[in-house]
Amino acid sequence: MALTFSRLFTHAVTRRYPKVKRPALSGFRGLHALVRDPVTGTHKCVACGLCAAICPSRCIHVSLKEQEGKKILKYEIEVLRCIYCAFCVEACPYGSLCLTEHYEYSDYSREALYMTYDKLMANWDKYMAGRKGEEYFKRFWRPMSEDFGTPQGKGKE
Ligand code: SF4
Ligand code: SF4
Repeated sequence: MALTFSRLFTHAVTRRYPKVKRPALSGFRGLHALVRDPVTGTHKCVACGLCAAICPSRCIHVSLKEQEGKKILKYEIEVLRCIYCAFCVEACPYGSLCLTEHYEYSDYSREALYMTYDKLMANWDKYMAGRKGEEYFKRFWRPMSEDFGTPQGKGKE
């Protein structure tokens, strides 16, 4: 009761979502995107399949096929099965995949939540292009050389 009364005349902390939104925390794991290489203008993915192999939900499907002398990447994610562990992002040796900060993508159909190559590339353009994307990899996922060093005072015993 004391706690209730002590709060009676203070401001409400409730936010009127969706009118009032909190900014996503940095490193938030939202909708997936395939990274667009700023130099080539296309995806960075080499279809090595590491992300698909490590995915505990088995919801990533990657393949590369040749068509009229061109290599066509097929990259799809079943978002409804994803548990947002971000293992795929960590496993990718080329920084080709990311989890954006976008979380408002509920829908009535399964198809809308089945991410095709085109949708994943569009997600990058919409939510991560530019500085945001660079910061994302710098801060969270790209291993730094110091991550592999031996901490001071350890190792040589
Ligand atoms: S976030 Fe986890 S569950 Fe989702 S696609 Fe990546 S590895 Fe799979
Ligand atoms: S996103 Fe990365 S790990 Fe996955 S297939 Fe492409 S290059 Fe390999």
